[in-house]
Order: sequence, then C-alpha cells, then structure tokens
Amino acid sequence: MIKEIQLRVTIDEETQDDIVLQKAIKQLHLNKDEVTGIKVLRKSIDARKPLIIFNYKVAVYINEELPEASEYKFEYKDVSNAKEIHIIGFGPAGMYAALRCVELGFKPIVLERGKNVKDRRRDLRAINQEHFVNEDSNYCFGEGGAGTYSDGKLYTRSLKRGDVRRIFENLVYHGATDQILLDAHPHIGTNKLPKIVQNIRETIIKYGGEVHFETRVTDLIIKENKIQAIHLQDGRELTAKRVILATGHSARDIYELLHKHEVALKAKSFAMGVRVEHPQQIIDNIQYHCTGDRNELLPAAAYSLVNQVNDRGVYSFCMCPGGFIVPAATANGEIVVNGMSPSRRNNKFANSGIVVEINADVDLYKYEKHGVLKGLEFQKDLERLAFTAGGRSQVAPAQRLTDFVEGKLSTDLNPTSYQPGLKSAPLHSLLPKSIGGRLRKGFAAFGQKMNGYYTDQANIVGVESRTSSPVNIPRKENLEHPEVEGLFPCGEGGGYAGGIVSAAMDGERCAEAAIVGL
Ligand code: FAD
Repeated sequence: MIKEIQLRVTIDEETQDDIVLQKAIKQLHLNKDEVTGIKVLRKSIDARKPLIIFNYKVAVYINEELPEASEYKFEYKDVSNAKEIHIIGFGPAGMYAALRCVELGFKPIVLERGKNVKDRRRDLRAINQEHFVNEDSNYCFGEGGAGTYSDGKLYTRSLKRGDVRRIFENLVYHGATDQILLDAHPHIGTNKLPKIVQNIRETIIKYGGEVHFETRVTDLIIKENKIQAIHLQDGRELTAKRVILATGHSARDIYELLHKHEVALKAKSFAMGVRVEHPQQIIDNIQYHCTGDRNELLPAAAYSLVNQVNDRGVYSFCMCPGGFIVPAATANGEIVVNGMSPSRRNNKFANSGIVVEINADVDLYKYEKHGVLKGLEFQKDLERLAFTAGGRSQVAPAQRLTDFVEGKLSTDLNPTSYQPGLKSAPLHSLLPKSIGGRLRKGFAAFGQKMNGYYTDQANIVGVESRTSSPVNIPRKENLEHPEVEGLFPCGEGGGYAGGIVSAAMDGERCAEAAIVGL
C-alpha cells in the first residue's frame, strides 16, 4: 500500500536524521518494519511566521517495493537517414523540439547563430570587461539560448500547456540534480546549466541529428505560401519543408524579416522596467524575521511582489536571490539588464526585475507608425536611452532606490554585482512617465508590504526590457503559421512561452506538430 501524507518539520527538527521517516510512522500509526520506503514528492519552506516550517509531501510505501525514480523513459531512435525537420535556434524551445524529433524518429537539423557553450564564455567576458557585444554570441544568443546563462529557475504558470514533469525528468536525464523534481521552487543555477545544455546537444548528435553553430539564418524563402528554403549568412541555401522557428524574443532581425515578407505578425502587450538590487541580508532579515545572518539550513530568501498602479500591474519578475545582475544586450549601443544566480545562490546580493505592464493598444500611441513592430521600437528606444545615460558603454545607469522614488539624483551608489559597473543617472526623469511614474509608486507600495525593502541601501539599474516578446507570430490550431505552410513559430519569440520550461514544452509540441504528414 502507498499512502501520501503531508508533514510539517520545524527548522530545529530538520537537522535530525530520519525525521521525515519518524514523523510518517507516527502519523500513520505504523511499525518501523512495515515501512519499506519513503519518497519525498515535494518540499517547500513556510516562512510566513517566525517559527519556520519545512512542509513535506511524501509517499509512504507500506509493505510495498519503491518504484523507479523516473516516470518517463527517454528512448531515442537512430535518425541519421530519417526525414528532416529544420529548427532555427537552439534555446530551450529549439533543444526540446530537436530531442522530441529524435524520439519520434525524425532528423532535426538545428541552425544556431551563436557559438557552443564553451566558446560563448569568452564573448560574455568581452561584454563584462571590454564592453563589446558580439551580436551573435552573448547572454541571449548561443548554445542553449537565453536559458544557458540564465538563472535556471524552473517555475512555470503554464501547467496546462504540457507535461512539466517530463521536461524536468529530461533535464535530470541530461545531468540536472533530481532535487528539481522535489522542490516547490526548483532552480538549477547558471554554473550547472552549460553542462546540461552540452549533454542535450550530444544526445541529438549521437542519434544522428545535426547541430550547426555560428550559422545565422538570414532569410526564409517562401513561395506560394509555402516554406521552400532557408538562406544562411554564409550564402548557402537549404531546402526545407518543415521549419520550427525558435529564435527567441531578442532576434529582432527575424521579426523584421517576416515583416518585410508581409508574413502576418501581431503587436502584443509586454512589460518593461528596471532591476532592483538589495544586499541579500536585508531580504533574508525581512523574509525570515531574523537579524544578522540567516540560519544555515535556509536558502537565500526570495520575494514576489505585485501592485496595481494607475490601471497597470507593477510586479517583480525573475527574482534572483544570491545572484548577479548581468548585461543581456544583443547589440552594441544598447543596455539591457537581467539577473542570474549560481546553484548555491551564495552571492551577497538579491536582485529582481521590477516591471510595468505595457498595453500594446493603449501605451504605444507615439509608435503607431511602426505598426506591428511598435513594441520592438519602444524597447529599442529605451535600451538606447540607457546606453547614453550610462556613458555609452555597458556601464548601466543607476540610482539609489529612495532617490528614484523621491526624484533626486544620487550623489553616490551602493556596491553592485553588475560587473561592467554603474553610473549615477536621473532615471526618475529619463524613463517615460508611463513606466517611471508607476515604478516609483510601486516601490513605495512594496515598502509597505515588506518592511525594510524600501531602503537607500538598494540600487535600481536600467533597463529591464526583455521580459517577454512585444510581438506575436500567429499560428493555427495545428501550430503552423496561418499564411505560411511548413512554418511553425515556437517558444518565446513567437509569444508562446515566458521562460525555460514553457519554451521547452512548446518546443516539444511544435516537433509533434511539424512531423504530421511529412
Ligand atoms: P531563446 O532562449 O532566446 O533561444 C533562441 C535562440 O535562437 C538563441 O540561441 C539565438 O542565438 C537563436 N537565434 C536567434 N536568431 C537566429 C537566427 N537568425 N539564426 C539562427 N539562430 C538564431 N527563464 C526562466 O524560466 N527562469 C529563469 O531563471 C530565467 N532567467 C533568465 C536570466 C537571464 C539572464 C536571461 C537572459 C533569461 C532568463 N530567463 C529565465 C528567460 C529564458 O531564458 C527564456 O524564456 C528562454 O530561454 C526562451 O527560450 P527560447 O528557446 O524560446 O528562446
């Protein structure tokens, strides 16, 4: 017999060996000999009250054998001579589309503009140290896409859109710790992701798929409303019948290319704002009701904040406890900030995007002349503005949080994790009012919700502009573009995902759709 139960373990009890087993035996009135095994299904921390509790959901096996840890078997076929599916982009969407093709017996041919994870690292160093952005290899472009040097949080709200567990198990199959199967808020960490991404590539190649790096797609040849071929930067043209377009939301050239070919696109609402950075200890002290260092059993504390300001949501996005702010620009002449953290989340800063909803129908009236690409142009303008305000390098414009809210230029700034450096700038007056005004009110409200959050020890850094795609590439029920036969818009770039897991799930679905009738 298997019984699923919930257990509450206090932080003092958590140090005791076998505490979960002991509590389960007691709760179910069992003898120790009857319990053949115990499996933790979920673990979370409840820190709402000063007595911090670890909540466990466990399956207790009573006179029954423990099953295998994984629910899925990943059986890949030899696809060396199979029918081809072309996949543009090797981010989470492209990687999972390729893996699914191999499972289903089709040969993925992946075309990725960036470099492999190892070589990509040098280009990240160049951004941080020399302030030079390689426009094909950076924090967003290259093997694993924006997911590789990301934070690796695996939360998703899109539970209906596929099987999250399958995605997690596949990550474990490719080298992630099986802890991600248990945690309520699973996280891999930026130091662990490159190896997992490399293992995924090796699986694809081992079974006969192809992955081509430094291979930028520059055009799609569409005739009679059908995809015919893919044009590459080096002049080659590849005949293609089914193309999964998984280029992410930073591939602006792809949107421009589709627009030039008069392929239907739609403007979509998105969010923009700044990144805020506190000393981690301040967040720990607020969330864990403590002073000084947090208990060593507790992870660096996270938070999630939301407030309505003048009809728009202002909210925290991609919060990175114990993390770093990184320069995520994909071109020179722009500043884009984002956040990541290592698996141990042991850096001394906590950062988070704080963003404002931008309603494409209401807020972008000054950009109407750009039609469906108006959101893209708005993003570009803000990123260029940040570049100028930062002094025309990857140094980012910043302000003390309290100065931003009070409308004062900061005479000096707090220490930061952002490697290229910060420059004091009047972000309160530089940001458009629709964003800056709402952010200022939002931060003041957050200070009411989390006592100590509103502090001059925090900086805000501009700009957090790539939270989601400002463009949607439409698709029919069978996931094909309504006007272009054989083209399957996929992942975050199409507007169908908002993170690693949802992009991966969409990749699998697009692979399943693209093979139909081939
Ligand atoms: P992408 O990952 O953007 O991949 C697209 C790929 O297409 C890129 O590799 C690009 O080089 C390639 N490409 C683009 N144009 C072309 C072309 N013309 N030819 C060939 N290839 C092309 N999400 C989370 O869920 N959790 C997190 O903790 C998290 N942290 C993040 C931290 C940072 C710093 C960043 C930048 C992002 C983070 N994200 C996080 C977001 C997440 O990475 C993205 O949602 C996800 O990667 C989107 O997947 P995708 O495959 O749709 O697109």
